[in-house]
Amino acid sequence: MVIKISHSEIKEKIIAAGLKATHQRIVIYAALMQMCDHPTAEKIFETIAPANPSISTGTLYKTLDHLVAVNLIAKVKSDEGSYRYDANVDNHNHIYCTNTNEILDYEDHELDQILEAYFKNKKIKNLKITDIRLQINGERLDLKKAISIQ
Ligand SMILES: [Zn+2]
Repeated sequence: MVIKISHSEIKEKIIAAGLKATHQRIVIYAALMQMCDHPTAEKIFETIAPANPSISTGTLYKTLDHLVAVNLIAKVKSDEGSYRYDANVDNHNHIYCTNTNEILDYEDHELDQILEAYFKNKKIKNLKITDIRLQINGERLDLKKAISIQ
């Protein structure tokens, strides 16, 4: 999901989260918002490096950690063991494609309602469920075609 947001809105969101809106935070947060495929830190670095030679990988990792800590972005652990980053922090499900390593957002209100109702009835003792996020694993059948969600 590509999130459309202006430079000043990005600045405001960083400040509202309690961080100083430094150049590197703005650049990294803006880049992640434009990347809808849940990139690794390496991919984010490749994207921002040409226009921002002053941002090192160390700065990138530290900045990503800061943005995760204030809940502006989310860190997603993928099955191949690497961390991926997500600018969408709203409750949503993921489709993980095991043969291409793609992670796609999967938003399905009907499914969310079914799951909520199911666990409301289930009454797991001594647990207050705060959110339910699914990871649906699968293989892309035709590698020439994108996975399409209706
Ligand atoms: Zn996502």
